[in-house]
Amino acid sequence: MKTKKALLIVDVQNDFCPGGSLAIKEGNDIVPVINELMDKVDVVITTQDWHPEGSTHFEDWPVHCVADTKGSELNPKLNKQKIDQKVLKGTRDDNPGYSAFDATNISLEDYLKEQDVGSLYVVGLATDYCVRASALDALKLGFHTYVVTDAIAAVNLKEGDGKKALQEMYKAGGILIEAKDV
Ligand SMILES: [Zn+2]
Repeated sequence: MKTKKALLIVDVQNDFCPGGSLAIKEGNDIVPVINELMDKVDVVITTQDWHPEGSTHFEDWPVHCVADTKGSELNPKLNKQKIDQKVLKGTRDDNPGYSAFDATNISLEDYLKEQDVGSLYVVGLATDYCVRASALDALKLGFHTYVVTDAIAAVNLKEGDGKKALQEMYKAGGILIEAKDV
């Protein structure tokens, strides 16, 4: 039985935080909450949107998180020392990389299995896109999947998108939890 806990920190990158090209208002506010959670788990994983310049993905979105630019770097306040594994996604035009399991630098599923991870705590940006896609994939793959509701934030292109995504993750078997209860 897989027993370890992993924190999956989704896309806490400059472009998704205030000042970035696709900024989410609360992007900086969740960082201290995430840093504290790092001490409560066995494995810490970050994901990064890592798009090629001129990606077809930018037909749907403003240009963001181009590989090896300031915008694709992790938020400077995130505690880098505790990161065990970085995951890059959206690196090719054939996959926009909404889910952490779309990673191209490693197989996230294999990595989690090797690390004996049974439970995943999903945090980061954005609730209605990459957090949602990552949590739904984790559930499909059979991980106990928690979504830490005060360590995520939504784009809310349409009002209520974040709430809708939470309901969807809950219905799929995700457990909604607050950081203090992790
Ligand atoms: Zn993207």
